[in-house]
Amino acid sequence: MEFSNLKSPGVVDCLIIGAGPGGLTAAIYLARFRRNIVIVDNGFSRAALIPTTHNCPGFPDGISGEQLLNRLRSQAAHYGVKVQTGEVTELKQTKNLFEATISNRDESRNNSNGGGSISVIRAITILLATGTADLRLDTKHWKTCIQKGLIRLCPVCDAYEAKDQNIALISSSPREGVKHALFLRTYSRNVTLIYQAKAELTSAEKRRLRKVNVEVIEDALGSLHITGESKPSIRLSNGEELQFDVIYPMLGESPRSQLAVQLGARCNRQGKLIVDRHQRTTVAGVYAVGDVVDELNQISVAAAHAAIASTDIQNRLNKLGYRLCP
Ligand SMILES: Cc1cc2nc3c(=O)[nH]c(=O)nc-3n(C[C@H](O)[C@H](O)[C@H](O)COP(=O)(O)OP(=O)(O)OC[C@H]3O[C@@H](n4cnc5c(N)ncnc54)[C@H](O)[C@@H]3O)c2cc1C
Repeated sequence: MEFSNLKSPGVVDCLIIGAGPGGLTAAIYLARFRRNIVIVDNGFSRAALIPTTHNCPGFPDGISGEQLLNRLRSQAAHYGVKVQTGEVTELKQTKNLFEATISNRDESRNNSNGGGSISVIRAITILLATGTADLRLDTKHWKTCIQKGLIRLCPVCDAYEAKDQNIALISSSPREGVKHALFLRTYSRNVTLIYQAKAELTSAEKRRLRKVNVEVIEDALGSLHITGESKPSIRLSNGEELQFDVIYPMLGESPRSQLAVQLGARCNRQGKLIVDRHQRTTVAGVYAVGDVVDELNQISVAAAHAAIASTDIQNRLNKLGYRLCP
């Protein structure tokens, strides 16, 4: 699929970094725009953790994150796109092109020298769909607990499934803790905020929570453990163990924005990339979509970003003269 007429051999129209819902949707759009693209992924999509999503449009009975990713991958494959396994470790800008260094973990496993293989891709545009990483409780059971619905990470995604249950929310941010506790209170009468920071909540914050019967437990960071199997429990620093139906550890996130930052892209205070209404970052030719951007972390949002960014990339490439169909 090579339709650009001006670029040098070996240069792709767009390098997509990340094959979660954002990157894969962009791959489908750009391939259907008859663009020559490469998509690289190193296998840490948040979507892969979803046991069953019930708010993704078009799936009335829900769908697991893995199944959704498989469907998106096969839709992309229909247009000739194959996800390349590897990690983009560096992005550089040279004249009007971007140069990405990719370390391939799969090949490194079979490599008798013990080292991985490194390749370089040159691209006219970059679309970053690298997502974000959850900061989580230090428990080796966390993945199993997520699969069983004992730990949940996103009230917008699945508080409906936790309705009327005994819910604990762990937070170290007063603003986010209070906000999420009030949000969860619309789903259940039994909500406890376990507040982990050293600084106390203000009396106004405590009053707001008390008014709607949200219980508040202030406990210093590092003293909580999730130990339960059928029902999760939290051990407080005084030894007391509290059992809940479900726990939301809302401990923050670490957006994977470093590659764009290397190029000079600007982030907000949370480390999320700042974009305009076309998903353009502050570096011309570099786009960002999905959880790495300052928006609601949702599949539908990532897909919508991808549609907007891909269309702008197509228009940009056309304006630059990369447009002729042979
Ligand atoms: C437990 C859980 C439940 C959820 N439930 C729902 C739900 O019900 N509904 C909903 O809408 N949302 C839900 N979400 C949120 C949803 O998963 C995310 O909003 C969505 O996955 C974001 O898509 P994305 O493409 O931006 O990022 P991701 O899906 O996280 O994909 C990013 C990809 O980029 C790759 N990557 C990162 N850096 C590099 C690099 N340098 N080189 C190569 N590859 C790289 C990663 O490996 C990853 O595969 C849930 C999330 C979790 C954790």
